[in-house]
Amino acid sequence: MMNELNTIEVLTCIGEGVTITDSEGVITFMNAAAEELTEWSSRTAIGMDFDKVFSVVNVNTGEAVESPIAMALDAGTAVGLHNHTVLISRSGIKKFISANCSPIRNSEQNVTGIIIIFRDITRIKMIEEELCQERNNLKIHFESSPLGMAIVDRNIVIKQVNPAFVKMTGSGYGGIFEPRLGSGIGCLNSFEKRCGEAEKCALCDLRKSVRQVLQSGEPLNDVIIQQTLMVNGKIQKPWYKINFVPVAVFGEKQVMIVIDDITGQKRNEENVQKARDYYLSILECFPAIVWRIGLDNQCSYINRQWTEFTGVPVEKGLQGGWINFIHPEDISKARAKYYEAFRERKPYNVEMRLQHLSGEYRWVLNMSRPFYNMEGSFDGYIALAFDITDQKAAEKQLEKTKETAESANRAKSEFLANMSHEIRTPLNGMLGMLNLTLMSDLDNRHRDNLKIAKSCADSLLKIINDILDFSKMEAGKLIIDNEDFNIFRLVEDVIKAHSFQACEKSLSLDYQFSAGIPTYLIGDSIRIKQILDNLIGNALKFTEDGGIILSVKKHSKKLDSFELLFSVSDTGIGIAKSEIDRLFRCFSQVDGSITRKFGGTGLGLAISKQLAEMMGGTIWVESKKGEGSTFFFTLPLKVGQVPVKKEVDQNLVKKPNIPLKILLVEDDKVNQIVFQQMLSDKGHTMQIASNGKEALEIIKKEKFDIIFMDIQMPEMDGIEITQRIRQMEGGTKHVPIVAVTAYALKGDKERFLSLGMDEYLAKPMQMEALFSVLDRYAKKIKEMDILNSLQADEKVMNPMETIDLHERIGQHIRSMKKALDNNEIPTIEKEANMLKKLAASIQADELKRIAFTIELAARREDLKSIIREMPRIRNEFENIS
Ligand code: ADP
Repeated sequence: MMNELNTIEVLTCIGEGVTITDSEGVITFMNAAAEELTEWSSRTAIGMDFDKVFSVVNVNTGEAVESPIAMALDAGTAVGLHNHTVLISRSGIKKFISANCSPIRNSEQNVTGIIIIFRDITRIKMIEEELCQERNNLKIHFESSPLGMAIVDRNIVIKQVNPAFVKMTGSGYGGIFEPRLGSGIGCLNSFEKRCGEAEKCALCDLRKSVRQVLQSGEPLNDVIIQQTLMVNGKIQKPWYKINFVPVAVFGEKQVMIVIDDITGQKRNEENVQKARDYYLSILECFPAIVWRIGLDNQCSYINRQWTEFTGVPVEKGLQGGWINFIHPEDISKARAKYYEAFRERKPYNVEMRLQHLSGEYRWVLNMSRPFYNMEGSFDGYIALAFDITDQKAAEKQLEKTKETAESANRAKSEFLANMSHEIRTPLNGMLGMLNLTLMSDLDNRHRDNLKIAKSCADSLLKIINDILDFSKMEAGKLIIDNEDFNIFRLVEDVIKAHSFQACEKSLSLDYQFSAGIPTYLIGDSIRIKQILDNLIGNALKFTEDGGIILSVKKHSKKLDSFELLFSVSDTGIGIAKSEIDRLFRCFSQVDGSITRKFGGTGLGLAISKQLAEMMGGTIWVESKKGEGSTFFFTLPLKVGQVPVKKEVDQNLVKKPNIPLKILLVEDDKVNQIVFQQMLSDKGHTMQIASNGKEALEIIKKEKFDIIFMDIQMPEMDGIEITQRIRQMEGGTKHVPIVAVTAYALKGDKERFLSLGMDEYLAKPMQMEALFSVLDRYAKKIKEMDILNSLQADEKVMNPMETIDLHERIGQHIRSMKKALDNNEIPTIEKEANMLKKLAASIQADELKRIAFTIELAARREDLKSIIREMPRIRNEFENIS
């Protein structure tokens, strides 16, 4: 009994499910583990049919499997469950179980019941399942991998391969079962003898690697091997990248060989290498030194040309060695350029001398450009240096030729200037004397003779002027003025000037204007006149019958600017078509014989063309040989207004003179006489110095109001004399010096003024111009005198002594107003003068200033300014009252 109880207790506590049935399969006992697995309590289950509580099905089909009770009773011995059997618990959960059903026999060996012992193996089943799955996956990977895989044993016999391996080697093992590796891949040596037995097999990298892995147990990765194979009767040399992985198959050490065919990649690399070599060979053969410098400022490449140039191996130029070949004087320049460019990663060029194999230094132009690597980052410079020695020499030669040409041109200009001076000086004298003599009492015959002489001198002057103009144009010194002028007056003057000549040749000379041309335009009237004079002069020269017409047409209009079309038509000899192109060139004339007949320099049209173009126009000709020519030119001109008249010049001769003390410095005797005669009846006193030394002596002793200074004189020229005079004055005094010169090319007005002169007069000197200068300085001197006397007056006037100064000032203002109403300008001047003095005595500075302005305006007869100042003086008077 005691034994029986112990058995039940043991069965109850056991970890596996235990169920006991009677011989009919009715449950008599169920332990706790069985309760948990079936989810039936023993109380309910006991007495129930075992198959109801222990419901088992095939997990795959879901069909009920044979009852283990029945199987055990049938077999009369212990039985297990079928594979894939699962227990369905009371709540419907499927559980993998393993069970053992054994019949219970009594002492007579009769079956009295069945004991079923079972356990949950779901977890084990799951692990099994996973393992299986994993194996399958590995197999799939193995089978489907694009990498060729083979497993070889210790004898390097292939045990297993995947399809990629077969495809890669293309051998299909040669039909051998478990071939050696060499035969498996179709190694050429294996066709000679069995794999591993041929002579070359001793060197086989594949075999070596497999053995190494077998020995070390460590994998060997990325072994790159080129194999020589025989595939389908053809020799091939694929490149493989192979991983050798140690594996254990059924406890035996084997090696898995994973092969990646990198033949394509290798070919690409080879192609890249070839391309690199190709371009490198181009660089090597480049007919200039090519070099590269890295971020470390070290030269990492130089091509072969280096050796050809310097005669030393490339290695000597690398890593900064090249610097030793640069001319010592050029090193710092080359370095500075490099570092400056390097900082900003800019391209740069530098010229420097490099030592040639001949020993001499030759000039090279080094052109460096920033170098960017494949990733696009700055990686130093790539540079090209080529020999420019010959080019430099050619440039030098060219420079020399240019200099020679320029100096020849300078010499020509110099010659022209000198010639103009030499001709103009006597001409100046001739014209001066002629003019003066013409002003005297003469009988008609003498007068006519002198007039002809004067016209000859005028013609000569015109030629000189043409040559001068031409020289100025060549030197780019001709300036175009823009002033208001009357176009009708200009044309009439030109016609008038030529009408005598036309009349002499019995030619008609007419002019016409199209409608709508404004009277006043803005432009350079002198230069327009010069072109017209040229064209009409030529027309008269080359016409024997008929006449000349000057026509001015309004060509086009844009806002306030016009384009005028001038044309000069004649009925003269005309010009052949073939000659027209040459016409506007310098010194060009149609026919030498005509030149002789008609004279001329061949400069007129060239000057006219340049002038027209400088004024923004164009010039051309239409002509027919034997029928006549028409010269056209256009000019863009702006609408102008009535020009301010320079009447002072005109009236000068009539005006009373203020006597001045004049010094003339002039070496030419004729010019001295002309000058003297021009001023003879003007009341001035004049002294003459024939050279610089004399002039300086005189100036030391005497004081002059004005000095007229010739520029070109022997020994000491006018410029030097002027500078010495200025030195003597020491900045405290300043005598006005007027440059008088025929030296018109060099003697630009601005130059003379910048050299300490105050005025400039060109020779041949015009009387009006001379008087205008004298008058201007006389006035200045008078104004200075007034100022001086004013200062003196201020000292004596005592405001305390005056009874009613304000009253007196008022009276003067009223008198001044009255004089203005009656247009009595001298009275205004007088009143203003008084007013100025009174204002000074009461220290009314502004009133004094306005009075003085009116006084000066009155002296200039400048009514406009007087009218403008009058209200101001009244306002100021009210302010101080
Ligand atoms: P020149 O001082 O010799 O007249 P130009 O330059 O004024 O120099 O003229 C050059 C040449 O053009 C003249 O020598 C002449 O052959 C030709 N020519 C100029 N104007 C006329 C014209 N109206 N009729 C015929 N030939 C002309």
